[in-house]
Amino acid sequence: MFYLKHKGKKLYIESDNVYTTCPQCGKEHAVDLNDAIIDGVLDLYGLDIFCTECSAKRRASGGSSPQVAAGCRNSPQTAASWEYDA
Ligand SMILES: [Zn+2]
Repeated sequence: MFYLKHKGKKLYIESDNVYTTCPQCGKEHAVDLNDAIIDGVLDLYGLDIFCTECSAKRRASGGSSPQVAAGCRNSPQTAASWEYDA
């Protein structure tokens, strides 16, 4: 079990209390970190995760790699992005 620690208080990281912002529209959305593991790697510092709406738009417009694409927000060398399949 992992947790964040802020001013002595523990906040446990669970399946329903982790959020990120979509790199395309900026919308805050919940993330299950289990879904963010790509090829056995969880890159919390370089991974961007699109919201469901932007994931659908990106899939509809057709991309060379529908689920994982190069990103450039924080770290160009390691940044990646992820889209929901649903
Ligand atoms: Zn979005």
